[in-house]
Amino acid sequence: MIEYVDIPYIEGDGSGEDIWNASRGVFEEAVNKAYNGERAIRWIYLIAGQKALDKTGELLPEETLNTVKKYKIAIKGPLTTPVGGGFRSVNVYLRHVFDLYVSMRPVRYFHGLPSPLKMPEKVDFIIFRENTEDLYKGIEWEEGTEDALNFIGFLKDRMGIAISEDSGVGVKPISKSRTVKFTRWVIDYAIKNKRKAITVVHKGNIMKYTEGAFMKWAYDVARGYPEHIVFDKPDKGDDTKILFNDRIADNMFMQVILRPEDYDLLLCPNLNGDYLSDACAALIGGLGVAPGANIGDDVAIFEPTHGSAPKYAGKDVINPTSFMLSGAIMFRHMGLDRASRLIEDAIEKTIQDMIVTYDLARHLEGVRPVRCSIFGEEVAKRIGENNLH
Ligand code: NAP
Repeated sequence: MIEYVDIPYIEGDGSGEDIWNASRGVFEEAVNKAYNGERAIRWIYLIAGQKALDKTGELLPEETLNTVKKYKIAIKGPLTTPVGGGFRSVNVYLRHVFDLYVSMRPVRYFHGLPSPLKMPEKVDFIIFRENTEDLYKGIEWEEGTEDALNFIGFLKDRMGIAISEDSGVGVKPISKSRTVKFTRWVIDYAIKNKRKAITVVHKGNIMKYTEGAFMKWAYDVARGYPEHIVFDKPDKGDDTKILFNDRIADNMFMQVILRPEDYDLLLCPNLNGDYLSDACAALIGGLGVAPGANIGDDVAIFEPTHGSAPKYAGKDVINPTSFMLSGAIMFRHMGLDRASRLIEDAIEKTIQDMIVTYDLARHLEGVRPVRCSIFGEEVAKRIGENNLH
């Protein structure tokens, strides 16, 4: 008898449909092969973003929210946020409504990918980005508006701080409670997955009471795990504990290029994590191969790092790898580890066979790009061929 695995999905806008069409068969084949035909996916179609707005007049229909809440899981393509849609971004709103406070962005090199590094195989780390606070709270006022002038007046009159009246201003909140919650999640993940190190990435030398405090609170949490964490390089022969350290953000951008092998898990406030994950994606082939997950205590939503790339919509050229890898993270999260490994192995084999989409082909000599759908078919064909793991 077949056991069905229910997974709600949102194709997404723009080129979302292309990457979904190319990836669906890969996901189904991975589950089929991993469990000898005894398990199968039952997809639950949901809409959000532009498609939902056109059909229902709402960017995020109640039914979509209720279904994600019920199944506690979803995979989604990128969503375009129409201007004047009521909130800043559907994606940010989804993170907010389900309190998806952990953003997980693995950065792993697959053999055959183009890279500006001499030894890109050393790149294998995960960026964890706090997903709800920092400048993403969207507290800012436009230059010259009444609110901006009121705020500037308050700073001058009540705090004795003078800033130019023609300034736009923003507020960067980072709280102790959310930093503690986020750090605990990442440390628990590191213990469960036997990871080697956690590095806090901050700009605490300048932003002392936001990013500096983020670092301090993270260390405070780490000190509560003496049986698992060390703060200096472990003695020779004892590498069973997790090394906990920190780097100032600008240094970290250099470190990931020059010494990527020294890093394992990066614990970042929201904005640092955002910048760093795109910069790191460039080390391993670009946005087309950069997967992501947004995880909370109840719900998790898996999605590629990139946006809806509207100029490629419907052209069947975009790279679906980041979407496929987001699916691999989802399967691991659901305990379907074998399906997850089969997807990663098949992608690696396809790239090694020099079957790639336009974004990778343009950096590889003499390689002609294949269509998005063809890439999907080639990956599906390689599912379960000689396991690499
Ligand atoms: P984008 O959609 O990420 O595209 C920027 C560029 O990145 C593309 O033009 C393309 O570069 C490259 N790229 C992105 N995805 C790729 C893929 N799968 N394969 C190969 N190359 C890929 O960023 P954007 O144009 O700034 O944003 C478009 C819309 O997406 C906006 O409405 C934004 O709000 C939304 N967005 C949504 C999410 C999300 O849903 N989580 C995230 C970010 C942005 P080349 O032109 O060089 O080929």
